[in-house]
Amino acid sequence: MAGETESDRDGMSEAELSELVELLRSLIRIKSVNPPGDEILAARYLERVLTDEGLQPTVVEPAPGRGSIVARVHGEGGSRGGAGDALLLLSHLDVVPADAAGWTHDPFGGDLADGYVWGRGAVDMKGMVAMEVQVMRRLARAARAAGRNPATDPIPGLARDVIFCSTADEEAGGWQGANWIVNEHPDWLRAAAALNEAGGISTTYGGIRFYPIQVAEKGFAVYRLRVKGRWGHGSVPTDDNAAVIAARVITRLAEPGPVRLTDPIRLMMERALPHVPSGARDAIAGIATAEPAAIDATLRRLCDPALALTISAIIRDTVSIGIVTAGLKYNIIPGAAEIVIDCRTLPGTTEEAMRAEVRRRVGDELMAHVEIELEQAAPSAQAPIESDMYRLLEDVVKAHDPHGVPLPFLAPFATDAKHLARIGVPTYGFSPLRVRPEDGLLNLMHGDDERVSVEALRFGLPVLWDAVRRFCS
Ligand SMILES: [Zn+2]
Repeated sequence: MAGETESDRDGMSEAELSELVELLRSLIRIKSVNPPGDEILAARYLERVLTDEGLQPTVVEPAPGRGSIVARVHGEGGSRGGAGDALLLLSHLDVVPADAAGWTHDPFGGDLADGYVWGRGAVDMKGMVAMEVQVMRRLARAARAAGRNPATDPIPGLARDVIFCSTADEEAGGWQGANWIVNEHPDWLRAAAALNEAGGISTTYGGIRFYPIQVAEKGFAVYRLRVKGRWGHGSVPTDDNAAVIAARVITRLAEPGPVRLTDPIRLMMERALPHVPSGARDAIAGIATAEPAAIDATLRRLCDPALALTISAIIRDTVSIGIVTAGLKYNIIPGAAEIVIDCRTLPGTTEEAMRAEVRRRVGDELMAHVEIELEQAAPSAQAPIESDMYRLLEDVVKAHDPHGVPLPFLAPFATDAKHLARIGVPTYGFSPLRVRPEDGLLNLMHGDDERVSVEALRFGLPVLWDAVRRFCS
């Protein structure tokens, strides 16, 4: 914005921090667990928050209870004023279920204790929702301070439009949320770039704080494997027991597949190398050429277990066994079994290629007993690394944490980015939080005791604000 103040770069007032914290606590208390979703309650709540700031948000509800919200502020135009040149602040309102039995605090209580906001969604991703809303509040207040109407007049100093969109249903594929909006109202979301969840959260390795910025995410393909055997009497075991054949199929699919290093991973390794302890450097540099089994052993030696598993997943197409069913009664040999598998595909791996890989891993002999049926699939999404936005995000991280090392990152999971990719919006995972090494934030996503520290939010909002300001002014 014009007239940058010290608080733009260096932080925010205590009053604003508590406004942000209270917004997050309120969002956590709105139980938007998917399934069933009920995101409409969160969407209506944010509609009131933004309307109070003078904005005119739109709430949509394509199916009962499945609410998403979109709000836009206008830039002053010029060379960056076209409709497709906006910046999109993307997020989702739904959360995964939580079993209170494993929690220290009520997962839907929004407790503020020991310096943390506790609750389901604190990290994934109501914390970012709250930061995005706070950015919209700042923009609206800047307009009001200049005597303008924030809903219709340009925001002082803003060249591009800024769109806020928080969606339903991301945790179950986004079909009732981002996918619906992209299909029905693509113009609401057309933008030069989007900032979304999952990246920008610091992770400490070898004493260095790295900030993985998500530039790509894996796609997925879910298959139902129908295994055929022959029904028989349990008193005389046979070779064509479908459960036994299914077990062999599962064993083969569970073997880690071949490694393929994609561009984001090559770049991530290249940029991380100078910063990792010298003892780890050769091993990491050798990953590209090592045998799959040796790679996993190296990762386990160099990284904590969670990080080793994550890296193992982003250097290959993975297969996870999800559902296995067979049998009717103890004394009947099952003639049929079913295995549902969750395959996660790297950029460049098509659904057809993944299916061929499943066949290859199972092998011809066993495939003679198996039919593969595709249940659902979505391609991977990738935003350019050689782009103004990516470079800007790196610069912003370095400006706010001079010891931090930003890296491009490929996420092993899918987000709403896949829907935005269909209308050509490059999406970067950047929900900036600086966390203590012991917080292990990524473990808390979808886990017990999900929480975010007030200090992480104190770091995050000014970083997000700076990214918006630099991209849009
Ligand atoms: Zn999420």
